[in-house]
Amino acid sequence: MKRQTKAIRTQTKKTQYREHSTPLFLTSSFSFESAEQGKALFDETEEGNIYSRFSNPSVQEFVDKVCMLEGAEEGLATATGMAAVFASMAGILKSGDHIIACRALFGSAHQIITQIFAKWGITYTYLDADATEEQWEAAVQTNSRMVYLETPSNPGLELVDLAMIGRLCKKHNLIFNVDNCFATPIIQTPIDFGADLVVHSATKFMDGQGRVLGGVVVGKAEFIAPIRFFCRHTGPSMSPFNAWTLSKSLETLELRMERHSQNALKLAQALEALPEVKKVNYPFLPSHPQYTLAKAQMNAGGAIVTIELEGGFERVSAFMKALQIPTLSSNLGDTRTIITNPFTTTHSKLKPDEKAALGITEGLIRISVGLESIEDLIEDFSQAAVVSAEVLAEKI
Ligand SMILES: *Cc1c(COP(=O)(O)O)cnc(C)c1O
Repeated sequence: MKRQTKAIRTQTKKTQYREHSTPLFLTSSFSFESAEQGKALFDETEEGNIYSRFSNPSVQEFVDKVCMLEGAEEGLATATGMAAVFASMAGILKSGDHIIACRALFGSAHQIITQIFAKWGITYTYLDADATEEQWEAAVQTNSRMVYLETPSNPGLELVDLAMIGRLCKKHNLIFNVDNCFATPIIQTPIDFGADLVVHSATKFMDGQGRVLGGVVVGKAEFIAPIRFFCRHTGPSMSPFNAWTLSKSLETLELRMERHSQNALKLAQALEALPEVKKVNYPFLPSHPQYTLAKAQMNAGGAIVTIELEGGFERVSAFMKALQIPTLSSNLGDTRTIITNPFTTTHSKLKPDEKAALGITEGLIRISVGLESIEDLIEDFSQAAVVSAEVLAEKI
């Protein structure tokens, strides 16, 4: 059976009520049938739930589905995506270790690596997404322990060659850790390219409807074990309610990602044909600098498209004003189309040279393409591109 079929059919064991949809196990703790059972659960001669900081059936169902989709041995869920990113590193790395990362990272991942780990004596080297195999090789030190990256990146949509990094990590015995949030396991499964760990912000496409926060780490059992120990004792657990919501969401993930990707490609193509749009960036457009790599490691382009408009912030403002359908929000991964100007919002705290290195210009707009009718989206974005160009022309 296909992974998606198995994931859809993964469910917590039925109770005596024979329910079809899994009930929500909104409980902080679990009872022992006897003193002997309490003892057995704690000395781990019997497997079972004790306390929801350690495990919970609703949370486990969500984790089992993600493991199925990513082709992972084991996993655990966390309260947010950032808790997953942090635990996947802090649960394994120790003082004196070195981490190699691709520069194009989610802002908070960048803060963990450069600010928080610096306090604990964990050092790092950053590389550009399109760095060559030789450049990655040259970054490996005797104390290197992990490679961490996102592909496609936010908001540059730059790709890192997963097969190449998989080879490098195997050769140098490095732990290969991938944030697969933008692609989701429907579009790309890093474990098939040699990743040891995959992390997600489940807040984005996994929920896909902007309702709950969540994170998940899946991968090889030998690496999940220390991360599980770290989480059990530091407590970034996922709420059973969020897990229950997310588990249901995963059953429609394939359907949603297919439609997100179809809409995104059609919108990208339509906007690329407009003279009022300076540049369109989308992994599955032949004009993307890493189009060949995108086709090799992704089976669709995903939901995120970026466009660049001439005329700086004034043009961006006029464009956003002219749009009828999308929501202005810094979030992404929703049924509803969302747009943001990374320069003044999500990435505003970066220094000018850091913004330049990541291609974050004043006129950049990140579009998280939703599931609305594509005809309506194309019409709305096209008219806004034209109207905002006219507004600016009148001012000059
Ligand atoms: C949103 C996001 C995160 C952080 O997830 P939260 O659930 O907001 O903590 C990490 N990585 C990527 C790529 C993201 O988009």
